[in-house]
Order: sequence, then structure tokens, then C-alpha cells
Amino acid sequence: MEPMKIYRHLLILAAMVVYLILFSSPAQAQTGISFESFETENDFPRSLTFKTVVTSDADIVNATLVFHLRNEFSSNSITRIDLDFEPGRRVELSHTWDTGAGTIPGAAIIHYWEVTDADGHQLRSHEMTVRYEDTRFDWQVRENEAIAVWWHDRRESFGENVFEIAQQAVADQRQRFQADLDFQMRIMIYNNFDEFAEWNGVTSEFIGGQAFPNQGITAQIVSAYGSQEQWLNDVVPHEISHLYFAQVTFHRRSEPPTWLNEGLAQFNEFGSQDRALQTAVNAAESGDLISLSLLETGFGYFNESRTRLAYAEAVSAVTYLVETYGDDGLAALLAAYREGQTTKEAFPSALGVALGDFEAGWAGWLGLDAAAYATPTRWALPTFRPSPTPFVPGASSTGTPTSPANGTAVSPTTTITPKTAVPGGTAVAQTNPANTPRPPSPTAQPDLPAIPAAFLTVLSAILVLGCCVAILILGGVLWGLSRRSS
Ligand SMILES: [Zn+2]
Repeated sequence: MEPMKIYRHLLILAAMVVYLILFSSPAQAQTGISFESFETENDFPRSLTFKTVVTSDADIVNATLVFHLRNEFSSNSITRIDLDFEPGRRVELSHTWDTGAGTIPGAAIIHYWEVTDADGHQLRSHEMTVRYEDTRFDWQVRENEAIAVWWHDRRESFGENVFEIAQQAVADQRQRFQADLDFQMRIMIYNNFDEFAEWNGVTSEFIGGQAFPNQGITAQIVSAYGSQEQWLNDVVPHEISHLYFAQVTFHRRSEPPTWLNEGLAQFNEFGSQDRALQTAVNAAESGDLISLSLLETGFGYFNESRTRLAYAEAVSAVTYLVETYGDDGLAALLAAYREGQTTKEAFPSALGVALGDFEAGWAGWLGLDAAAYATPTRWALPTFRPSPTPFVPGASSTGTPTSPANGTAVSPTTTITPKTAVPGGTAVAQTNPANTPRPPSPTAQPDLPAIPAAFLTVLSAILVLGCCVAILILGGVLWGLSRRSS
């Protein structure tokens, strides 16, 4: 190739580099808009306030705050807030998210800002994450990679005890579920009902704990009185089970039955389930058994004894399942849900029986005539009435997407564990409808600050200049060399 041609090629290359750098650099580099600061103010459990200061060469005319809870394996429900403010070249933006209707302590909130100025320039900040911590208490934390136990105003040995129970539960359940959680679980211990009720949207004295599988968080009430050790050995593994269940069955279309989720959670408790198993046998004998098909999408808030029966049947059916089909059968069933199969498909494909036949087998195991079990009239349960608030199925990986419009969005699906009235009784859990998380603390800082636009612009300019100079020098040298040699 001739020297001039080489030089021309190099010039074209230089032009291309300049073009690429100019037009592929981040949006920040092209606009006069830049973010001066970010801040959040935590007033747990009432509200979380997001703040930023933005400047531009032209008046800033539009601004939007976008935020959502971080979901460990489900899809996000995103909230967009179009902000009201006086246009100007430097504006202070702020939005207060009212979480008074219910929230999740420690939930990670992902958020970013979008701003437009009068010249039509747009700038989007980087995503930031803030934990909406329960700042009412001075928490102690004991953690490793898999587990974090949070407690307050109790001895260190208490936290250590909870941590050991959690470790044992994880060791058991990673076998049973044949999986490790993809995230560090957080176990929050509250010392009484009031501490818990203040942030929890759905409160009833019947509740003893609650799992938020999408956030990887469990919260449980552990009072200093009564059979505390026994309760810990039930509620901690129970809530952990909901986290595993949600992960190993998660699929956009999958809706594993509530009885399977709650049954497994009790099955995974350390305490004996004999009392619950006997309750199911008694219900079968008296003709009160609730059909499993009625326990698929929640247990509802019926009267307490009805709910208790639902939990008892759930652990009974799961015990039958594991005794009959083994851990492998259980794993196959969970995997079928993970593949997106419905219950109608999952039971035959994993266990070789339709749900109806499975249920008849279970009835036989309870001492009934399995053949008669399928007769619908015999098993109609007219008194089983769904609660006014619709229950979200199971471990609820589905997180109910709600109300993007007004900022109270984000409704994580959760699982509640009713407290057992009788020591040694089985812990029960219900799925709880939409819960709305609340605001973070005043000192919370975003952990991912956006890169200032000015910095990116300067960086781009330096790169462009450097590239051009280098290519021109190289071209000149090559040209010179080739002239000399020719
Ligand atoms: Zn439960």
C-alpha cells in the first residue's frame, strides 16, 4: 500500500474513533444536566423521602422518580412519580413515599431519577439502592454469607441461639429443597406484638411471624415469656422454608398451592407435628375435612379453628406426600412448578397421579375410604368462606403489582405465620395480601451515586483528543518511514 493511502486510511480511522466516542458515550456527556446530590430520609415505618438537587444550562422542566423494591427472584413492580416543582436551572427535588399502610423492615429500595430540561436534554441518574431499615431500635446482627439474624435489646446469647437454629434449618432445608438460596436471608426478631404491628399492614394477634420471600426477609415475634425456645425452633425454620419454597418453585406462571407451601413450612419446623396430624385424622373422621383444592390459593381469614384445621391438613398432606413419594417425589413436584407447570400438570408429571387421586390417597392414609373421597357431594364444604381480602397464593413469588400511579405501589406478597395458641401446637401461616413498604432513615445514603455529567464530558474529550493525536503521530511516522524506504 502506498504511504499516502496508509495515511488517508489512518485519518479515516481517526475520524471513526472520534465519531464513535462522541456518539456512543453516555447520555450524561451530551447534556448540560447534572445531579449535585442524592439523599434519602428514613422515618420508618411512616415514610421514606427521596431527595436530589439537579442543575442544567436550561430550565429543568420535567422530573420523575422511579423506584421499586428489590426482588430476589420475582419481577418488580415499578412506581413512577412525576414530580411537581418550579422549573429552573437548579432545582431541589423530593418525594415522600408514605408507607404507613404497611412495609417491610430492611427491604432494599432501588431508585433513580429522570430529568428533562427546556432544551429537550434528558438525563437519567444511575440506579441507587437504599435499605429501609427499622431505625426505631438499636439492632445487633450476627451473620455469615447465608444468614443474618437481627435482634435488639436482648443478650448476645439470644441472637447466637437464633443464629444456630437458622443454621440448622438451612442445613436441613438445602437437602430437602436440593438448593441453596441465591441471597443472604435476613431474620428480624421482634420482642412483642406492638413492635411488629407498627410497621405490618395486616395485623392480628393470631400472627406470630411473616416471611417476605421476594425480599429474602423474615420477621417473627419472639416474646421473652412462655416457651420461647420451642417457639424459636418452630417459627425460624418455618419462615426460612417459605424463602426456599419461593425460590425453588418460582416461575412467572407458577402458582403452587398454599397447602403445599404451608405444609412444607410446618414439616420443616423442628418440633413435633403429631398434634396437627391428629387434628387432620379427627377432621376426616368427623367429616370436616377441607378439600385440598379449596386450600390452593390461600387459607383465608376464617375463624381461627378453621384456619388451624387448614394448617393441620397442609402438614398432614405434605407428610403423606413425603412418606409416599419420598424426597425425590417432592423435589420433582417443586421442579415442575419451577418449569411453569400448573397444579393440574405438575402432579401427574412429577408424581404420576392427578391431584384428585393424590388427595384420595391421602384420605385413605387418614383412614377414610379412598374410593369414596372423590365424590364431590360428600366433600362439599359450604362453610369455607374466602376472606374479604384476597389471598395471594403461596410463597408468593408473584408479588402483586399495584398502584404504580401514586407512589404507594410495591406490594410484596408475603407469608404470615400465625402464632400457636397452644404450646407445641403447629405454627400456621397465611399468605397476606399486598403490603406496602415504607420509608428509610434520614441518614441513609445511596450506595451507587451517579457519575457527574461534567466528568464524563471531560473524560470523553480527553479520550478523543488522545486518540486523534496518537493516530496522527503514528500516521506521520509511517508516512515518513515509507517515504524514506521508497
Ligand atoms: Zn407459613
